[in-house]
Amino acid sequence: MTEVIATNQTILVVGGGISGLTAALEAAETGKQVVLVEKRPFVGGRVTQLYKYFPKLCFPTCGLEINQRRAKMNPNLTIITMAEVTDIQGEAGNYTATVRISPRYVNDKCTACGDCGRAVESEFDNEFNYGLGGLAKRKGAYLPHTMAHPQQYVLDPRIIGTDDAQKAKEACKYDAIDLEMQEETVEFKAGAVIWATGWRPYDANRIQPYGYDRFDNVITNVEFERMADPKGPTGGKLLRPSDGKEAKNIAFIQCAGSRDKNHLLHCSRICCMATLKQTHFVQDAWGDEGKSTVYYIDIRAIDRFEDFYQNVKANPNVKFIKSKVASITLNRENGNPILNGVDVESYNRDGNGGYDRYSTEYDLVVLAIGMEPSVDKESFPVDISINEEGFIEPAPENGGVFAAGCASDALDVNRAVQQATGAALRAIQVVNRVAGTEG
Ligand SMILES: Cc1cc2nc3c(=O)[nH]c(=O)nc-3n(C[C@H](O)[C@H](O)[C@H](O)COP(=O)(O)OP(=O)(O)OC[C@H]3O[C@@H](n4cnc5c(N)ncnc54)[C@H](O)[C@@H]3O)c2cc1C
Ligand code: SF4
Repeated sequence: MTEVIATNQTILVVGGGISGLTAALEAAETGKQVVLVEKRPFVGGRVTQLYKYFPKLCFPTCGLEINQRRAKMNPNLTIITMAEVTDIQGEAGNYTATVRISPRYVNDKCTACGDCGRAVESEFDNEFNYGLGGLAKRKGAYLPHTMAHPQQYVLDPRIIGTDDAQKAKEACKYDAIDLEMQEETVEFKAGAVIWATGWRPYDANRIQPYGYDRFDNVITNVEFERMADPKGPTGGKLLRPSDGKEAKNIAFIQCAGSRDKNHLLHCSRICCMATLKQTHFVQDAWGDEGKSTVYYIDIRAIDRFEDFYQNVKANPNVKFIKSKVASITLNRENGNPILNGVDVESYNRDGNGGYDRYSTEYDLVVLAIGMEPSVDKESFPVDISINEEGFIEPAPENGGVFAAGCASDALDVNRAVQQATGAALRAIQVVNRVAGTEG
């Protein structure tokens, strides 16, 4: 049974991505009691699924490791994974939260030795790799990723009640598997709430003309991050999902589902930078044989990112075409996606009138899909002010509920972390006021 010790001076953080972790650690390190509730079996959020960060092209694992160490060392911070907040009652300084915790079927005795994973036979698509999950499946007993915090295996609920669950239990030398674990509901007090549930990739299936649902060699930018990662489904090789052929000639389509009233209204800002970064992955993989073509409306490389953009632009292996791609069709003989549209700047290059139509084939197409806030107003456990793009507003009527990171806007990691630190400060002020009135 999970026991949560909390008072109305406790800060509840919902979502354990880089923003939630930052807010929780900043508050806990000032001496506040913090409870962090994370839906998935591990903290770190979507940055754990990125290969490298722009602009420095360093690995996200680096910063995450530091945060995970800070979290382990801080007795003020309680992390509950596989959990969601189902209700929040009360007001600033005096909330009661209800949290539903799903069974992990593995307890704290787990050493992550992996014996259970080796013992089970069942395999499932690996959700960590988004839509490429079928290329490298995971077992029914699994560690979500190598750097997962907590370093504890999880049993897929689909194997519970099968022989595989029993095999996993028998394989564990540490008595860490508990097949009797049940869903739990816990209730505890909190003075302030930080909502840091981040973003989800826009559903590319909804952009019908691009055929993501029909063509294997049209993938999304989040999938491309997984593909480029040596720990990903292709071992870091840029290969076509349809036939495993090397993908050397790659097109990137910007604003796929963003800045469009039929999809996401807002500019996700990150996707331009993500594509510029991903052209580096192509170069690193194939050298001069790797060719990237970026189809864009305009490139949004804000502030200090302009230098990064200019460097990519200077690379002769990266071509930029100003055009909103109209549709993608398929060359059925070789599986190549064909991009169709109009190059609105062609007159600048050839001096011949311009607005040339193109139908160009590539090995692989990457859709630079946008970031959709994972805030669902309908099921939100407390009244909250949300803007028309779906992000939480910094509104006084939200009382002691503050948004951190991408729950507040489409942000890169640096900005998300800064914003989360600000949210921690606001939450601390609320619980300090409670302490002041009670003390
Ligand atoms: C293709 C792509 C590439 C990118 N590359 C870079 C890059 O190179 N450099 C960079 O700076 N930025 C990059 N970004 C942006 C970066 O991913 C975000 O800035 C970062 O993920 C924001 O972190 P977050 O904690 O706000 O959100 P998330 O990472 O989304 O974390 C939110 C957490 O909340 C949890 N959660 C969600 N709902 C609930 C719930 N109801 N209850 C409990 N928990 C919940 C989630 O499981 C998750 O752990 C990229 C984005 C994209 C799309
Ligand atoms: S549950 Fe047991 S067998 Fe599986 S990884 Fe943990 S300690 Fe090893």
